[in-house]
Amino acid sequence: PEAITVQELANRMAEKGADLVKALFNMGMMVTVNQTIDQDTAELLVTEFGHNIERVSESDVDIDTTGDVDADETLKARPPVVAIMGHVDHGKTSLLDALRGTDVVRGEAGGITQHIGAYQIKTKNGAQLTVLDTPGHAAFTQMRMRGANVTDIVILVVAADDGIMPQTIEAINHTKAAGVPMIVAINKCDKEDANPQKVRERLLEHEIIVEQMSGDVQDVEVSAKTGKGLDELIEKILLQAEFMELKSNPDRAAEATVIEAKLDKGKGPVATVLVNRGTLKRGDIFVVGTESGRVRAMNDDKGRQVKEAGPSMPVEVLGLGGVPMAGDVLTVVESEQRAREVSSYRQEQATAKRTATAPASLDTMFSALA
Ligand code: GDP
Ligand code: MG
Repeated sequence: PEAITVQELANRMAEKGADLVKALFNMGMMVTVNQTIDQDTAELLVTEFGHNIERVSESDVDIDTTGDVDADETLKARPPVVAIMGHVDHGKTSLLDALRGTDVVRGEAGGITQHIGAYQIKTKNGAQLTVLDTPGHAAFTQMRMRGANVTDIVILVVAADDGIMPQTIEAINHTKAAGVPMIVAINKCDKEDANPQKVRERLLEHEIIVEQMSGDVQDVEVSAKTGKGLDELIEKILLQAEFMELKSNPDRAAEATVIEAKLDKGKGPVATVLVNRGTLKRGDIFVVGTESGRVRAMNDDKGRQVKEAGPSMPVEVLGLGGVPMAGDVLTVVESEQRAREVSSYRQEQATAKRTATAPASLDTMFSALA
């Protein structure tokens, strides 16, 4: 059953919160305006005040697009979203940089680096892929817990001289739990003491059987230092992506997931989002978590302003009312009024959740009754 705070119910009935608290008090309930009451009690109050009961379902106030599936004929192929995971110092950052170095667009742009937490790479053959900056495992877990699984493919980096280490195992477990396919990149193969075969064998203990061991997990020997195997790695990513038939509808109001967000001194609240479906456009009005906003500007990972961002494209968004959380979903809505309605409803829900368990102090009881 849905719960509502006394204040919210009062607002909807255009009555004073304190009057509701008094009525509840007379019904034998000690509650403050910030506390939640159950639906039956709410209905009783509504009748008590002589109003008609009009049940408003959550979907009338909030946005729930989870069940809203795009028709097959609207779907178009989209680039894969790849995350690099592995033990510390095994070369995740180096490999990401090396992959970014293969980006043909980056070459044209003059190699300006812009840290937005996700990068788009265009290969020599024109294929595209999005690589997530190795987020801390905590941020990853947080996103997964909130149902935001933006990663299509995980690249598990294992240093050939160091082998399977605790964070390698952690990454394997995360990937398995998320149900995401993995490609093993055996890194540092330029080193003299590199032993890629041992890595493959040790992976068996974690039920990862790579191709070289007659399994179906793709593996590739690379060196982020010399560039060895990078083309092969990209090929394998694209092959895996092709097999997965990744698609989404670019011609609809955008839905995007927040990868990271912060308060920038100059720009205000900024968020890097990854578009899941639809096309995000400058001027779009949106809700993201408990915040709302309007896309004032968008920058890509090369620091260039863009007017639109389609599926799998990461962009930095400016024009938010506040800083959202990683994993929050940005949804484009039709009007500012709708955006405000949804965000304030969500803020109320969040507040209600926080205060629902908090015991009422005498002070708040009295101020509510005053
Ligand atoms: P991360 O902690 O996984 O992000 O690892 P880094 O990318 O920071 O790399 C850790 C160290 O390993 C750095 O000193 C890198 O220069 C070095 N390194 C990374 N990749 C390679 C490689 O392919 N070959 C060699 N020889 N060194 C590498
Ligand atoms: Mg690193």
